[in-house]
Amino acid sequence: IAKDEGGSCFRFFQPIMTSKMTRRIKLDQELRLAMSDCAQLMLFYQPKVDLRDGRIAGVEALLRWHHPQQGMISPAEFIPIAEDSGLIVELGDWVLVRAFEQMSWWQQQGFTVDVAINISAKQLLRRNISERVLSLTQQLEVDPRHVQLEITENNLMDNMSRILPQLQALQQYGFTLAIDDFGTGHSSLSRLRDLPVKVLKIDRSFVINALRDQKDEQLVEAIIGIGHTLNRTVIAEGIETPEQMALLQQLGCEEGQGFLFAKPMSAEQLEALLHKGRIDLSSKEEMA
Ligand code: C2E
Ligand code: MG
Ligand code: MG
Ligand code: MG
Repeated sequence: IAKDEGGSCFRFFQPIMTSKMTRRIKLDQELRLAMSDCAQLMLFYQPKVDLRDGRIAGVEALLRWHHPQQGMISPAEFIPIAEDSGLIVELGDWVLVRAFEQMSWWQQQGFTVDVAINISAKQLLRRNISERVLSLTQQLEVDPRHVQLEITENNLMDNMSRILPQLQALQQYGFTLAIDDFGTGHSSLSRLRDLPVKVLKIDRSFVINALRDQKDEQLVEAIIGIGHTLNRTVIAEGIETPEQMALLQQLGCEEGQGFLFAKPMSAEQLEALLHKGRIDLSSKEEMA
């Protein structure tokens, strides 16, 4: 067909397109299979730390894919593929079930852990999604008050009218809602005010830039201010240095998440940390 259409530009670009698309299609198929192989797909957990006292305020569940031939593939690559193909709906269910099973297990071990789970707009656009999530928690004996659902800002704003009723229902059932990657998208303040969202997660890019530039520092301060004015809890993601931690503490940001405190880890590794219950923030300061 390409031959009939002629045009050297077309023929020049086509092979490149094809190899990229082939990889995407192949990964999508392999991801589908990976869902039934617990050696390939698993959840890691990254602690969220209370910046006032180092207490572990909760954890975020992050998907990890260990591909049998290609090794670790980042969710930054495969989540967008799954969103395009629609596989994210099944994959998202898989994540919910695994996270709730883990919470149930931890509960039996005497730990009560608040778990944040990333949820995509495609999942939220599904019929009766709020009832589905609630019924999963009931089946696995998980209290929705310990479950936080993270939705990225743009995902949310682009589908607001259809998603809002679902969010309202989820909130009524006791789930906590969070806006992820906050600041990178386009929420208007009036919409933000009316959203049933309790937590704002400041995107890592702001945390990185805050120490480089006075204006960026003021921007972070303003974001935290808006959060507090609207009575939301503010979390900073991607804290890597003691200086970043100190600045966010000083600006009154409640919680932090980042490699300075802990990287995402397996459930077993996390249990050792949960036994301690907190991360020693003064030892982090000393690293400065
Ligand atoms: P996110 O939800 O914003 O998650 C935070 C990301 O920042 C994670 O990347 C985490 O490992 C990384 N991170 C945390 N602290 C630091 C730090 O100090 N420095 C740096 N450089 N990075 C840090 P990860 O695990 O690669 O996930 C990337 C994105 O993929 C997530 O961003 C989320 O949007 C998506 N994702 C991951 N798991 C799921 C899932 O189960 N469902 C859905 N829908 N999306 C997921
Ligand atoms: Mg997240
Ligand atoms: Mg985030
Ligand atoms: Mg982010």
